[in-house]
Amino acid sequence: MNPSSSTLAPSSMPRPRRRRIDAVLFDMDDTLIDWSGLKLGWEELNRPLVANIYTFLEQLGHTLPDPDEFHSAFQRRSSEAWNQATENWSGPDFAEVLRRVCADAGLDPGGLDIDALMRAYGWQPMPGVVLYPDTVAVLQALREAGYALGLVTNSYFPMWMRDVELEHYQLLDFFNVRITACDAGHLKPHRAIFTRALEHLDTEPERAVFVGDRPEHDIRGANDAGLISVLLDPPHLERDLDGVVPDYTITTLSELLPILVELEKET
Ligand SMILES: [Mg+2]
Repeated sequence: MNPSSSTLAPSSMPRPRRRRIDAVLFDMDDTLIDWSGLKLGWEELNRPLVANIYTFLEQLGHTLPDPDEFHSAFQRRSSEAWNQATENWSGPDFAEVLRRVCADAGLDPGGLDIDALMRAYGWQPMPGVVLYPDTVAVLQALREAGYALGLVTNSYFPMWMRDVELEHYQLLDFFNVRITACDAGHLKPHRAIFTRALEHLDTEPERAVFVGDRPEHDIRGANDAGLISVLLDPPHLERDLDGVVPDYTITTLSELLPILVELEKET
């Protein structure tokens, strides 16, 4: 028996063809959920949440400065964390912000349960923030088509805090991997946050699509990391491309589905 004959498929038998794309990854804010209906600014939105921490610390018996001073320290330390992070696209860390706020208030951060403070803060879906009308249908279609799904968000919260929103919007179970910049230690567009998500999905950048609304973070990052980039550019966002060139541009998430069909036709 010719040993090679048992291992070669007859020419008439088509080889199973591997799909071109394994995974579709998404940004979260203004890509899967629509923040355009939010009526509050960041400071206003945070005031009751920071008050939750203040009350929690008071109930533990700590002596604190005036509530307005505590809130101002939170705003200042949050801004500082973001400014530092964007200097080199390192990951901002909400826990570190809280440590600094507590130190500003005269407390010893080392003696505090920071996870308990994060839970006391009580991050939750914000009023006016909703799913896009087609978010669930598109994720469902992609799952049914067999794609692994990922979520990569530039958030200074750990993922468990953003999961509260995903659960509320019934998106939590769609994703094979979910990463925040805090968890990854890097912000988009740094390559490392994309690489980390792809490693979780056990795939290569050229076999993955990234969908996001921010040219500078999502599209520049996906392009630099070698993923296929899709800019979600609905009329209400008015993002400036600033020289960034997405592989595809869509105005609704549903427009992503025919793009995948086309990509699968490529060899
Ligand atoms: Mg976004």
